[in-house]
Amino acid sequence: MNFETKLVNLKIKDQYGATNTPVYLSNSFAYEDAEELEKVFKNRALGYVYSRVSNPTIKALEDKLASLEGGKQSILAASGMAAISTATLTLLEAGDEFVATSSLFGGTYNLFKNYQKYGITPRFSQGVERDDIAKLITNKTKFVFLETLGNPKLDIPDIKGIAEVCQKNNIPLIVDSTMTTPALIKPLELGANIVIHSTSKYINGTANSIGGVIIDGGNFDWTIFANFSEYKRFGKLAFTVKARGETFKDFGPSSSPLTSLLNELGIPTLALRMEKHSNNALELANFLLEHPKVKEVNYPGLESNKYNERAKNLLENGFGGMLTLRVGSKDKAFKVINNLEYFYNLANIGDVKSLVIHPASTIYAKNTVKEREALGAYDDLIRVSVGIEDIEDLKADFAQALK
Ligand SMILES: *Cc1c(COP(=O)(O)O)cnc(C)c1O
Repeated sequence: MNFETKLVNLKIKDQYGATNTPVYLSNSFAYEDAEELEKVFKNRALGYVYSRVSNPTIKALEDKLASLEGGKQSILAASGMAAISTATLTLLEAGDEFVATSSLFGGTYNLFKNYQKYGITPRFSQGVERDDIAKLITNKTKFVFLETLGNPKLDIPDIKGIAEVCQKNNIPLIVDSTMTTPALIKPLELGANIVIHSTSKYINGTANSIGGVIIDGGNFDWTIFANFSEYKRFGKLAFTVKARGETFKDFGPSSSPLTSLLNELGIPTLALRMEKHSNNALELANFLLEHPKVKEVNYPGLESNKYNERAKNLLENGFGGMLTLRVGSKDKAFKVINNLEYFYNLANIGDVKSLVIHPASTIYAKNTVKEREALGAYDDLIRVSVGIEDIEDLKADFAQALK
């Protein structure tokens, strides 16, 4: 089945033949026999026990997302941050290190920095090339973490090259693909081991609920790590077993069945939306590039963009819906934002509605000037999440706001 058919036709199992996922609003699941419940608790039989750990409605979305990425298993969490913290804390212990690119989503960057309070050392790379990562790897490195498309820098890591470095060093590669979704890229095929999404963004599509997912490629031997000794019998599936049975269960960042369903409703239109987001963003980027009041436009789909070649190699069916522009000063950036009519000024991406934000004064307000520059959140930069409206309206809106 090709990807777009799959988006529409991922079947659910239902005794009555329902074609949409039934919502199981039940905290617990009852068993006739004490023996059976004991088996489930001991990981010797499959079954639902308690919805903080797993739930059939949530499982339906987990299975769909795993299938779309080509992964083996997945865990839906309450948010993208819950997915990132759960995945990383499943691997990390005090004394460990990990390597991450530095142009990360602000929340992820802050979480990683805060891990230092628990005796864990993040090593942030300056660039996104294989050697930038390779030189930071030590015998304490537990994983490498990157985003398919840096936010807001829109830089594109050499995912294949970095995956090779990871393989050579026996280190798993975790990829946050929120900005791209499986409609544009499938990181597991490029050598990643874990894929993460904030489903709050493009997967949901209409910004009606928060969620995050961890997808396990089943392609790494986790049993090489000392803190997986209890999970040896699960082999390449040990990561998700430990993540669900330990980190997820202990910290409790579970989603709810209703929220899961809301996130699932966006799936059938994912490819359609990503294509329109990408086409609109490319046309708006080209329009802004020609505009005399715009100092710089960053969009990987532009021929002149530093990452255009790599974007063409790695991304299928479009370059995504995110672009940034610089207008010369913070003052001017605020004026443009205040004068836009169709673009909501808010902290989100991936909605069908067009959105803008001034990252330096909002998402990165607590970071130092030096950190902001490294993260690409310049004072005169506006981030745009281009929606699926008529592109002529979006161009006209920017034209009047810039004027
Ligand atoms: C939004 C976002 C997150 C965090 O997701 P939440 O659902 O807001 O917790 C992580 N990574 C990226 C790239 C994001 O855009």
